[in-house]
Amino acid sequence: MEIKEFRDICRKFRRHMDIRTTAKYNTPLELLTDLMEEVGELARAINRKEIRKEKTEHDIGSEIIDIALILMWMADIYGIDFEEQLKKNLESWNKRFEFSI
Ligand SMILES: [Mg+2]
Repeated sequence: MEIKEFRDICRKFRRHMDIRTTAKYNTPLELLTDLMEEVGELARAINRKEIRKEKTEHDIGSEIIDIALILMWMADIYGIDFEEQLKKNLESWNKRFEFSI
């Protein structure tokens, strides 16, 4: 899946959630608190797998995608094009760390 395709799905899901629930995902603070909640869920999943060594289903992948979804919404609020920003960051990484693709 392309980044733009993921972005479009995220936008569609955000509109869906705005209609379906009382929770709003419109301000940076709302998104930031939701992001922290998802990071906590990821921490719990990693803790269960790595520290507690539980044999239950560890949903690390699902939590990572939840975080990516919120980051995509946050990028939208600030008018950040994910692909363009990635290119800028790659240039920066190249200068700072001599990394290139
Ligand atoms: Mg989650």
